[in-house]
Amino acid sequence: MKAPLSQLEVVRPRDLDHALQSLAVDDPELRPLPLAGGTDLFVYLNAGTLEARRYLDLSSLRGLRGVRVGRAAVTIGALATFRQLREHREIRRRLPSLAAAAREVGAWQIQERATIAGNIANASPAGDSLPVLLAHDALVQVRSVRGDRTLALDDFYLGYRRLALAADELIVAVIIPWSPPRARAFFRKVGTRRAQSISKVVVATLLRRGRNGAFDHVRIAYGSMAPVPKRARAAEQALLGTRGRAADIAAARTALARDLTPIDDIRSESDYRMEVAGNVLEQCVRVENGGR
Ligand SMILES: Cc1cc2nc3c(=O)[nH]c(=O)nc-3n(C[C@H](O)[C@H](O)[C@H](O)COP(=O)(O)OP(=O)(O)OC[C@H]3O[C@@H](n4cnc5c(N)ncnc54)[C@H](O)[C@@H]3O)c2cc1C
Repeated sequence: MKAPLSQLEVVRPRDLDHALQSLAVDDPELRPLPLAGGTDLFVYLNAGTLEARRYLDLSSLRGLRGVRVGRAAVTIGALATFRQLREHREIRRRLPSLAAAAREVGAWQIQERATIAGNIANASPAGDSLPVLLAHDALVQVRSVRGDRTLALDDFYLGYRRLALAADELIVAVIIPWSPPRARAFFRKVGTRRAQSISKVVVATLLRRGRNGAFDHVRIAYGSMAPVPKRARAAEQALLGTRGRAADIAAARTALARDLTPIDDIRSESDYRMEVAGNVLEQCVRVENGGR
């Protein structure tokens, strides 16, 4: 049932410590739910599917903002918006598929507010940034009054919308190692229309050829193709060490059946999704081979 706004309480923390303390309460009724851009939460609130009455407004926590460019990795603050990621010079240059994914999240109004940590924590299998983060071996840094931990995004999703995030933990940053030299990234969202559509299939890859021309670094990740955003490890293995010829691509396409378990839903049927997932993988390897 939809709660009247007057029944909702918003905690505005003074700083990050205060925010973490407000999460560190035993009674789940008293524990506020983190609120970043609100682009997911307000939809649930409006639909009456959200039970929480208390919210933790993260927007004043300046320490969670910004993008820090390091030598080995870029650290993206939890509150970085998709607009910031879309426009950030180094991200556009060195993580073009993240910039591309940022441009595909909703339309500009959504990109203005929606944050990267919100996309991760909302844990939709269709979240556009998630396959990109998986293909780049991203790490998620989380913090609570108990301390910090950093875990691979790949270990973060335990099942459909189930996260390896304790109720008292906040995501504070996402760490993305720079791609290996000469590796090339590819991103493709397949949806019904250009803006505001949830993806039918979303794919991100990171491929590199060694000196002998064979792939020596292969990452392939999908969204909307399983209960969680997912690396396609069997397909990765099928391509690794090959030159990406027609038979190698065919083997990788076949292997996708071991990686992916798409559902039928109102957006698409499972067979269609599998076909598209294979087509996009094929296109990506062909582009890498210098074709189209
Ligand atoms: C019209 C519309 C179109 C959309 N289109 C797309 C799209 O094309 N692609 C796409 O991927 N998404 C899309 N979305 C979904 C949404 O915009 C994204 O998931 C967005 O990244 C959510 O970020 P937020 O900051 O608004 O999260 P919020 O709504 O504030 O929070 C979402 C969840 O994350 C939790 N959370 C937020 N920050 C933290 C943190 N730091 N630590 C722990 N938990 C946290 C919240 O408690 C909540 O559970 C769309 C939404 C709308 C309304």
